[in-house]
Amino acid sequence: MFARHFIDSLDFAHHGRELRGLVPLAEMPRLQGLLATPEGEISYFVRGLPEKDGKPMLEVTVDGLCHLCCQRCLNGFSYPVKLVSHLQLAQASELDEFSIDENDEVDSIAANKRLDVLNMIEEEILLSLPFAPKHPLGACQPVVTELSQSDTHPFAVLEGLKSLSGLKNK
Ligand SMILES: [Zn+2]
Repeated sequence: MFARHFIDSLDFAHHGRELRGLVPLAEMPRLQGLLATPEGEISYFVRGLPEKDGKPMLEVTVDGLCHLCCQRCLNGFSYPVKLVSHLQLAQASELDEFSIDENDEVDSIAANKRLDVLNMIEEEILLSLPFAPKHPLGACQPVVTELSQSDTHPFAVLEGLKSLSGLKNK
């Protein structure tokens, strides 16, 4: 069973603490709808930055591979997840103020004494994934329809039965 990590976010930032690990993709429920298969692991590294631009901050680095479902041909394909996010820790009362701020580089999250690290990582991965994931143009595999498969299979089975009964008659 995968152990969830909880951190006191302000304390973590102030002391410049670090946390790294591997998380199975199967442990991230909100991601499942986008994945072709839940196999694979994502490595993460969370680092506390005591004062960056006057605010405590968490730096989140995520690296790994996930298998998304192509929205054009519906086949799975590998999609590299590589991101570094900076999350400023704000008091809940300050968050409205920050959202007006036009700073795209840095997001703010509410400081939390029991921050769910896995949940935070999942959020960052979700934000980084394309809205409609697709193979690069021309790389889609031809779609194998159910119909063409069921056309060939019953005959193959019949042929097999015939040769079996032929054997028995001998
Ligand atoms: Zn495709």
